[in-house]
Amino acid sequence: MKKIISLVSIIVVLAIGLSAYRASTLYVDQQYHPQKQTKRVVVDQATVVENFSKAIQIATVSRDYPAPVTPAPFLAFHQHLKDSFPIVHQIATRKVINNYSLIYKFQGSDLSLKPALFMGHMDVVPVDQDTKEKWTHDAFAGVIDDEKVWGRGALDDKATVMALMEAMELSLKAGRQPIRTIYFAFGHDEEVGGSQGAKKVAEYFLKQGENFEFVLDEGGAILKGYIKNVAQSVGIIGIAEKGFVNIRLIAERPGGHSSMPPENTGPGILASAIVKLEQNKFPATLRYTNLTFDAIGSYADFTTRFAMANQWLTAPLIKKQLLSDPSKAAGLRTTTAVTMMKGSSKSNILPTKASVVVNFRILPSETWQTVLAKVKEVINDERVGYEVFMNNNPSKVSSVDSKGYKWISQTIREFEPDSLVAPYLVMGGTDSKYFYPLTDSVYRFLMIKLTPDIQKTIHGIDEHIKIEDYVEGIQYFHELFRKVSFDNEAPK
Ligand SMILES: [Zn+2]
Repeated sequence: MKKIISLVSIIVVLAIGLSAYRASTLYVDQQYHPQKQTKRVVVDQATVVENFSKAIQIATVSRDYPAPVTPAPFLAFHQHLKDSFPIVHQIATRKVINNYSLIYKFQGSDLSLKPALFMGHMDVVPVDQDTKEKWTHDAFAGVIDDEKVWGRGALDDKATVMALMEAMELSLKAGRQPIRTIYFAFGHDEEVGGSQGAKKVAEYFLKQGENFEFVLDEGGAILKGYIKNVAQSVGIIGIAEKGFVNIRLIAERPGGHSSMPPENTGPGILASAIVKLEQNKFPATLRYTNLTFDAIGSYADFTTRFAMANQWLTAPLIKKQLLSDPSKAAGLRTTTAVTMMKGSSKSNILPTKASVVVNFRILPSETWQTVLAKVKEVINDERVGYEVFMNNNPSKVSSVDSKGYKWISQTIREFEPDSLVAPYLVMGGTDSKYFYPLTDSVYRFLMIKLTPDIQKTIHGIDEHIKIEDYVEGIQYFHELFRKVSFDNEAPK
């Protein structure tokens, strides 16, 4: 007996030792060495801020389909780009896609290099009538104060469009010639899915036989407190995005007067289907959490590293903790959200057709077809019918070893030497989802510092950007263009 006890304790000591060893050694490769600060291009702050404010004043609002595009603001926005960036318009080949989306091509001298594509979108979400009064400044006034520029689109996504244009205007003004071809593509309906803008742009590029070195779109930013117990701010670069599908569950019944109801009404049948779905959620995985953590794990405290490095033991605990927070749970699984329910139109009428919509956000390891199959299997009730509307499969996962990822992350580190860089899974959708047939390397990042307070203003009240952040965004793109295209010395 004594022998067994001592054997068990030796094994326990060994296991703890090994686990601690893993925790101390597993993430050491991810040390971020100080980068030399890049010399930043001089930006005429007054002019770029003025251009930006005018861009916000043009209310390029997207409303849900089938509401048509209102042409005037988009055409005015096009004109504003022409007026603000004369050199870009002199040198680039410009193409209008489906009336409102734009492509700019900056021809490179070396045709053996694959082009790079920088994306943004010109449209913005509307301002709700009942929140209008709560804005500090009118959402479309483009007010500039000592520190900030205010208005709808200041972050999402006119900052990207205007900063890209400013950076290119500066590069060309200095007489630089692109070596690698650079494209810009600005969609006009990202906020309603991009099917008339970015999707058509991608189709155009496919027809041209284009193949990109990488694509960069909106998505990530510099965040503080993104990973618990990592003190440094982290530049998170989106390397994949979730898909989505709406499934309408339908129960058709004979109907009649509510005074003589059957055993189960349509809504009753659907209610039990919903309960089954909520009790049988999709399995959780730490795959995407690990992807991020692997890049910055060496900066976490020992307890966190111990837990993350020994998931053979700790995975259930980590999952439980992350799943308790909806914002984190979304990164672990395909989510199930019951949204719209419909029964009859009057309190004493039995519904002949009851329905409920369930919105799923899909992890890259699944497809909307596998989600539908699982839903049918879980509900397992012949009285329930299924109707799929609006679906998009999740994206592929882009590599962190590509040239594009390296250029983007290196430039982040040069601009913010104290910050770390990590890949992550984007929960929402971006226009870049249409570009996977054109490259394996699709990334999502904008050089702005997002705190939870500022993040709340995107699609919300009081959207604004700090002037110093906007200027840094321009300088960031300017430096990225240099690495990608303008510099003979840069790695190709
Ligand atoms: Zn956006």
